[in-house]
Amino acid sequence: MITPEQSTLARESSLLAVRGLTRRFGGLTAVDNVDLDVQGGQIHGLIGPNGSGKTTCINLISGVLRPDAGSVMLDGKELAREPTHAVAGLGLARTFQNIRVFGRMTVLENVLVGFNRSLGYSLLDVFSLRTRTAERRLHDQAMELLKFVGLEHKRGTLATSLSYGEQRLVEIARGLALSPRLLLLDEPLVGMNPSEVDHVVELLKRMRSNGLTMLLVEHKMRVVMSICDHITVLNFGRRIACGRPEEVRANPEVISAYLGESHGIRKRAA
Ligand code: ADP
Ligand code: MG
Repeated sequence: MITPEQSTLARESSLLAVRGLTRRFGGLTAVDNVDLDVQGGQIHGLIGPNGSGKTTCINLISGVLRPDAGSVMLDGKELAREPTHAVAGLGLARTFQNIRVFGRMTVLENVLVGFNRSLGYSLLDVFSLRTRTAERRLHDQAMELLKFVGLEHKRGTLATSLSYGEQRLVEIARGLALSPRLLLLDEPLVGMNPSEVDHVVELLKRMRSNGLTMLLVEHKMRVVMSICDHITVLNFGRRIACGRPEEVRANPEVISAYLGESHGIRKRAA
């Protein structure tokens, strides 16, 4: 049980502090009074069965959706009322559960697009840069990011001709181009083969050791349990557990939520 004083303390020391987050779709409460604290420098897992409200949470935190109630504070600043583009400027970047790369752009251009918000360039500026120096600088930074994710050799390839896993890496590089303080990752490992999964897990660890804070929605339990510092578990839109991986793994309510899912008895009206 968290006392009000503890709650205030947690909020003060958290990079991300979510309180009472609620979002309804018609008669369905997809996210129901959720509290979530992400400490700086950590990978925080957000898990739960299908339809438990994880993506809706990410959409609410990143400003894609408006909450019906609750607050989202990033380093003490309220985000819930900021438009999406302002949220990015405040240090928050994300990847999408359904990949969103620009198919007609090259891999390099996809990453360059990420800079337009972080440096205050418009999309047009990025592609018709006035000075060679500025162009060179952005190009070098984008190449650094591509090197970091291991895609520098694909810089000139059209994003659509990449494998699913490679497109995910482009999304991650583009997210990093914003130099975020907090990166939200919505199922970044979906559709990846085992060696791609290992590669991304290594990247996420390196990103954490470089000081980046991440909120990771992920279904692969082995990965979540091995790389997350803390985990929050949702079920039917509500937070049913939070704590360190070993605490969460042993929680009876969490076990029963996942057993329900694996036996196919979870049915939820949308
Ligand atoms: P998860 O990411 O955990 O699988 P979601 O956040 O996508 O879950 O969905 C939570 C619930 O909200 C589901 O029942 C889903 O059908 C519903 N939902 C999500 N988005 C919408 C929407 N735009 N309109 C209506 N219902 C939605
Ligand atoms: Mg989802």
